Amino acid sequence: MTEEKISLLVIYTGGTIGMTQDPVTGALVPFNFGNIYEQMPILKRFDYRIDFFSFEPLVDSSNMKPSFWIRLAEIIESNYENYDGFVVLHGSDTMAYTASALSFMLENLNKPVILTGSQLPMGVIRTDGRENFLTSIEIAASKDDNVATVPEVAIFFKNQLMRGNRTTKFNAELFNAFVSGNYPLLAEVGVHIRFNRNEILKPNFKKLKVHTKLDFNVTILKLFPGISENVVKSTLAIPGLKALILETFGSGNAPTDAWFLNSLEEAIKGGLLIYNVTQCKSGSVELGKYETSLDLGRIGVIGGYDITTESALSKLMYLIGEGYPKERIIELLQKPIRGEMTIE
Ligand code: ASP
Repeated sequence: MTEEKISLLVIYTGGTIGMTQDPVTGALVPFNFGNIYEQMPILKRFDYRIDFFSFEPLVDSSNMKPSFWIRLAEIIESNYENYDGFVVLHGSDTMAYTASALSFMLENLNKPVILTGSQLPMGVIRTDGRENFLTSIEIAASKDDNVATVPEVAIFFKNQLMRGNRTTKFNAELFNAFVSGNYPLLAEVGVHIRFNRNEILKPNFKKLKVHTKLDFNVTILKLFPGISENVVKSTLAIPGLKALILETFGSGNAPTDAWFLNSLEEAIKGGLLIYNVTQCKSGSVELGKYETSLDLGRIGVIGGYDITTESALSKLMYLIGEGYPKERIIELLQKPIRGEMTIE
């Protein structure tokens, strides 16, 4: 009996990676993945079955919306049994948000979902897209004893594989565009793909459960020196708001002005969830470490430890959307459910 070939589904959503230069006008136009084997004959050298699915219309990732995350999750769900892994080609601008959202939406994921993109279009000579794409395919196809090596949502960029819900885009220029400031790399790629197997989530072999009931009544308020009462109060007064991510300084610190703390306290008493996430790219919120965070804990602000803002946003949308009781949401916000935070 011949062994089945590894099968992968490449989902192209849009973004720079899928662009090529029109030979006549010189303008950047979407790459035709319909004839990808003609454009990239090297793909034939993989001994995998690779199918393509293209979003219609394609989206620059700055136009990504939670409705696209839902579509993406549903495409993965409906193809889940037919493929060994998924590669999602996505614009880099909001890739960290999409990867985070997918990690929460795809519960019991036991197959790789590797997001990648590029800083230079595929059709440009010096593109980083070709390497990112080909290596993502190899990673999505990799197995150990017939079990996926990376059964989680990850981002591959330049030569690094990172847990999707730990990443942030931090560089708009270098090929090395993403950082995973609080979690080790899942793999480093040079001559070899060196998987950091101890850091990769283990499969649980349970049935995939896809959650698509996201609640969008969440917003983000980034603190800055001199933030006015007006800005804080107007944000807290947004009609229907259920959760606020408060991007704080350092290890979770905020101004100690009475108007500020009173406004937050009142909003929390009124039912708003306030989630404290640090503006730093690395390190953790530690409520009570400084006087400037003591009161936040006292009035009921929830500490987000080392979660990224991108991850906090979709975690809140997911937990509220699922309709969990408030106490349960507060509990789940303070522990990792998809490897998105570290609690020491
Ligand atoms: N604006 C593009 C996008 O995010 C940039 C990129 O693809 O890297 O879709």
